[in-house]
Amino acid sequence: MDFKTYVRDIQDFPEKGIVFKDISPLLKDERAFQAATKAMIAMVGNNAVDKVIGIESRGFFFAPLLAFELSAGFVPVRKVGKLPADKISRTYALEYGSDTLEIHSDSITKGDRVLIHDDVLATGGTARAACELVESLGGEVVLCHFLLELDFLNGRRRLENYPAKSLMAF
Ligand code: IMP
Repeated sequence: MDFKTYVRDIQDFPEKGIVFKDISPLLKDERAFQAATKAMIAMVGNNAVDKVIGIESRGFFFAPLLAFELSAGFVPVRKVGKLPADKISRTYALEYGSDTLEIHSDSITKGDRVLIHDDVLATGGTARAACELVESLGGEVVLCHFLLELDFLNGRRRLENYPAKSLMAF
């Protein structure tokens, strides 16, 4: 199946000049959704995984499905101010300004093998911050895992210390 045909470009979203990759057509098509989920599970290979991280918010679409199939726990990494219990945060630079991600302090056990999932790898700042949060809690990042990556933004450079895979590249 050519998954790329289920991703559409939205001009000027969320801001003028940005072309946003919208995965809604893939999610709403039952066959494409199921096939993409299976293909993303296959991408994990023989890696043993204790926890799957989903990054808010579009990382939440697939991360729990991956966790279920891999018999791993699911852990959300959320935008600032959303998590109720004791947490740690990481602030990272965006093209303009900065953003902060948080994780519950008790969500990772020292030595956990962790897969980090998000829908899109763009500049890599978001995934990198999630990797650093996991490592601060003593987890080992075994794979950064994406539905799609935007090649021209070189996100893999920010993730050079971590293995990374994506189902599609644009
Ligand atoms: P990065 O930190 O620049 O790699 O941006 C990745 C984050 O921004 C992910 O959490 C994505 O959900 C979101 N993102 C960036 N560009 C797009 C896009 O074109 N479509 C959907 N999400 C995007």
